[in-house]
Amino acid sequence: MFDKILIANRGEIACRIIQTARRLGVASVAVYSEADRGARHVALAEEAVPIGAAAAAHSYLNQRAILEAARRTGAQAIHPGYGFLSENPDFAAAVKAAGLVFIGPSADAIRAMGLKDAAKCLMEAAKVPVVPGYHGERQDADFLAKQARQIGYPVLIKAVAGGGGKGMRQVEHAEGFSQALAEARGEALAAFGNEAVLIEKFIPQPRHIEIQVFGDGLRALHLFERDCSLQRRHQKVIEEAPAPGMPQMVRDAMGQAAIRAAQAIGYCGAGTVEFIADGSGDLRPDGFWFMEMNTRLQVEHPVTEMITGVDLVEWQLRVAAGEPLPLAQEDLHITGHSFEARLYAEDVPRGFLPATGPLTHLAFADGCRVESGVQSGDSITPFYDPMIAKIITHGPTRAIALARLRQALAGCQVAGTTTNLAFLGALARHKGFGRGEVDTGLIARDLAALIHCPPPAARIKAQAALAASGLMAQSPPGQGDAPSDTLDDAPSDTPLGFTLWQPLSQAITLRHGEDLFTAQITARGEEGAPGYEIALEGTIIKAVQQPAGWRFDANLAVPWRVVGDVVMIFADYGRAFIHVDPLAQGDSAAGDAKGDTSVITAPMSGVVKAIFVTPGQAVRQGEQLAVLEAMKMEHALFAPRDAVVEQVLEAKGAQVAEGTALVRLAQNAQEAQEAQGAQGTEEKPTLAP
Ligand code: ADP
Ligand code: ADP
Ligand code: MG
Repeated sequence: MFDKILIANRGEIACRIIQTARRLGVASVAVYSEADRGARHVALAEEAVPIGAAAAAHSYLNQRAILEAARRTGAQAIHPGYGFLSENPDFAAAVKAAGLVFIGPSADAIRAMGLKDAAKCLMEAAKVPVVPGYHGERQDADFLAKQARQIGYPVLIKAVAGGGGKGMRQVEHAEGFSQALAEARGEALAAFGNEAVLIEKFIPQPRHIEIQVFGDGLRALHLFERDCSLQRRHQKVIEEAPAPGMPQMVRDAMGQAAIRAAQAIGYCGAGTVEFIADGSGDLRPDGFWFMEMNTRLQVEHPVTEMITGVDLVEWQLRVAAGEPLPLAQEDLHITGHSFEARLYAEDVPRGFLPATGPLTHLAFADGCRVESGVQSGDSITPFYDPMIAKIITHGPTRAIALARLRQALAGCQVAGTTTNLAFLGALARHKGFGRGEVDTGLIARDLAALIHCPPPAARIKAQAALAASGLMAQSPPGQGDAPSDTLDDAPSDTPLGFTLWQPLSQAITLRHGEDLFTAQITARGEEGAPGYEIALEGTIIKAVQQPAGWRFDANLAVPWRVVGDVVMIFADYGRAFIHVDPLAQGDSAAGDAKGDTSVITAPMSGVVKAIFVTPGQAVRQGEQLAVLEAMKMEHALFAPRDAVVEQVLEAKGAQVAEGTALVRLAQNAQEAQEAQGAQGTEEKPTLAP
């Protein structure tokens, strides 16, 4: 076994690897970018080396700096985690050439599976069923259109170099083919520098089922399947193992096919063979097809660990150190069921835009496994994947594991940035999902219901108002509700109850989303037992402090937190209330640019991928103006009305912050004329794609 390894990654996966290394007596070297100086993976590792600027290209993708850090610290091996350099064959080769061990498969194995078309040819030769389609050399549009017709619509166009759902387009009819092809090619060229595509039959009611494989170069085995069908735009949201409704016969067939895939490339290390299965009826041994192989540890590997009891990172280290696989196929069994939910900083109602910001508070429920690279006080930056944590549960049955997932999500407390927690909660309560009726279209079909957010109960608003007033902080410790950050230094001997210096009645104005409301708080306490009446929206809620904690009418207070002017009540997956000064509120409403349809602003921080308009150009309502990209998400910006473009304020390639003005539309006919008159004489600040 190694004495010391370097982890060429960040976030939760770096922390995850460090923990197993430590358990095996192996020291870890973390590497970090300028943005990650205070990150959790840096604090956890025995040693840490800075490797460059925040942008991944300068740090986590900076092969030279990483190899130099390994040399300087005397690390014997490099674990690449997932993402970043994990599937880069040149990096795997460079690690080897530097006399170090790459904790992963050989460069040749990575290369063999790197391009989807070549991988499919290889799999056909190994008698692994592949999705019917065209994956040959010819790329002219007419020829591909003919292939698509032969395959039969609907089809899927995929970038051969694709990953993360990019460069992929579903096409329903022949009429849409050429446009979809152009889009897929454009996206593929920008993301992977390779515009080649393949065409696949779109499998109806598809289920994404993947097999965890492991090889030591001599032997390969599988650790059963994971179902990753709950996806949004081809991105996994909740994963589980085993797959619901999986007949043993199909499991065996899929497992054997995956082992054949691994053996075909002499696989060494952890890998995942992804299959698409026909979910329109029961799973069948002839109803699944190879999609691709990921030659690395997968994000959702914990669900496999939970049902097999195997630490996959430990196996990775052992096999990389030259040991044989620790177990044989017949030693492996499935125990119970496991789920993983990916908690992201993203704004679900606004189209799942990646969010950034400080995590002012982060706490998880007991009874679940959490993999996270951040803690309270850290920030989610725009530089990397906005994942906050993976929440993992296990139970003897699927129903129990799912009930535990619901509890874990309900008990998760996160404040400071918008997250997808409520969406995950709604998904975990989805009836069809509960019955195991999953397919990759489930989220899109039921999106409206899944993102519907009912208004908070009056009782929750009342608690927010009382918390905002500062009056709740007088609760004794240990009663279950979280203390307020702003009042941490309040003296512990503050007298309980209504005291003379408190006003008899005060008004608190709060904003929850678009809803602005005022609560009137009136003291109604008795000696030694403080109490208030909170009047809002025509009802009165009685708050009393009892030994067990505050009660609002009959209900015990919900955990809560005050940070600055934000009151976070951890009900319904967290409700944020903003304490507003009613005098200032008129101004802020007037200055709000939201209703202004003349300036198109960036709804998130990211990179301007494309600008489609130039000053003076007339655009129709709904016409695409620009595309913004943050991590793996592309977001198109559309014209809110018919107008003439007055100014283009940012160029393609610019890194912009949330709220940055990108395009200005003329507000009236005169402005429009001026913009059109200036066209041609003025230097154009944009680059059309
Ligand atoms: P999975 O099927 O395991 O989700 P993906 O290929 O979608 O695999 O991505 C795996 C992980 O790799 C992502 O969750 C993300 O953290 C990371 N990743 C993907 N693309 C990038 C990228 N362009 N830059 C940095 N990290 C990335
Ligand atoms: P990526 O490299 O981006 O992960 P994949 O080939 O693994 O690309 O496909 C991503 C997702 O797209 C799958 O998980 C599945 O939901 C969907 N998908 C891929 N191929 C098909 C297909 N032939 N039919 C239906 N859905 C598919
Ligand atoms: Mg995939």
